[in-house]
Amino acid sequence: MISLTRSEAKLVLKELKSWMKPEKVSSSLATFPSSAEIVSEPLGVVLVISAWNYPILLSLNPLIGAIVAGNAVVLKPSEISPATSSLLATLIHEYLDNSAIRVVEGAVAETTALLEQKWDKIMYTGNGKVGRIVMSAAAKHLTPVILELGGKCPVIIDSDINLEVATRRIVVGKWGSNNGQACIAPDYIITEKSNAPKVVESFKSTLEKFYGKDPFESKDLSRIVNSNHFARLSNMLDDEKVCDKIVHGGQRDEKHLMIAPTLIQDAPMDSLVMSDEIFGPLLPIISVDKIDESFELINSRAKPLAAYLFTSDKKLEEKFVKSISAGGLLVNDTCLHLTISSLPFGGVGDSGIGAYHGKFSFDIFSHKKAVLRRSFGGDLSARYPPYTPRKQQF
Ligand code: NAD
Repeated sequence: MISLTRSEAKLVLKELKSWMKPEKVSSSLATFPSSAEIVSEPLGVVLVISAWNYPILLSLNPLIGAIVAGNAVVLKPSEISPATSSLLATLIHEYLDNSAIRVVEGAVAETTALLEQKWDKIMYTGNGKVGRIVMSAAAKHLTPVILELGGKCPVIIDSDINLEVATRRIVVGKWGSNNGQACIAPDYIITEKSNAPKVVESFKSTLEKFYGKDPFESKDLSRIVNSNHFARLSNMLDDEKVCDKIVHGGQRDEKHLMIAPTLIQDAPMDSLVMSDEIFGPLLPIISVDKIDESFELINSRAKPLAAYLFTSDKKLEEKFVKSISAGGLLVNDTCLHLTISSLPFGGVGDSGIGAYHGKFSFDIFSHKKAVLRRSFGGDLSARYPPYTPRKQQF
């Protein structure tokens, strides 16, 4: 993930001059002769509140965008990843311009105090509950916000596909980075009833291939970040609506904060695991009679940050792109859209407000100032009073 921050910095160094240039746009006949342009200017001072799960990426990438757009930044890293928070505070103080960038460490009390101040923009990454607190605080000062939130990212698996490739791409997107504690990690699978047994078997064998018979022995699975999140995920597993539906995994080790990759087949829609964002190593597999029903199911719920489809059917692919509203869509893979800096990254509806990465970051941290230039010639007398009947004909 640090490599994504490095490549963002490299991209900015290469492209910033061209992004900063005023953009010439067409003017109208009514203003002839004139020239019109859009000039990007800094907003002022930006507050960046970041989350724990990718503490460097989610702190430095917004910071890069805000700084290159000419703003000053106060960064508040997450207290849930305290070592990274303190490292960022130390290194930013030591190596970056302290007149433009400051780090304030702390938890709820400190963030609440920061939110009482007037900022020119606030960028928050984290859950929607706190997102609402941030937006309410910002409203008091009429401060615009960028909210990078989460949600339940669905994966539709069609029947006639290369299931082995699909499964390994889903497994790496779900468990490969942070053991499911990622905002765009696949949250649940939807597949046709007749296909579900094959899907489950494919997941089981891929999980065993990647993480061994005893996943707790694997060096490639992360722990759950803390005991609060461990308890939250344990509640989902202990929910009586799903405890007899666990078809793989389910092991927990509270002392070491480990939960094994877990498959839950046909979890009811009102179970905890299907109500809240999972943000952990549990994966429900939902069956539908016909694959088309997946679209209704997804559209009946909050708009996700990402949605994934595995198919070889071009018509289904088109329907997916046209009918699913999500922050981002990916066909036949998971998570990789995050790495493309020419694509905007952000949510829609409950999954967030505003998008960033690459030039989208520069734009969202800038004010786009409308500038129209005229000379002293080209005046039409019809513009000026007195508005005689003759002038009114124009
Ligand atoms: P978190 O606990 O680190 O909280 C995020 C920030 O909010 C922290 O800096 C924290 O200090 C602050 N905060 C917490 N409570 C607060 C309060 N009451 N008032 C003010 N500030 C407060 O992170 P989290 O919320 O556990 O992160 C997980 C969520 O974030 C998931 O929903 C995930 O999908 C989402 N997420 C989204 C993205 C994205 O880019 N869209 C990236 C990562 C995580």
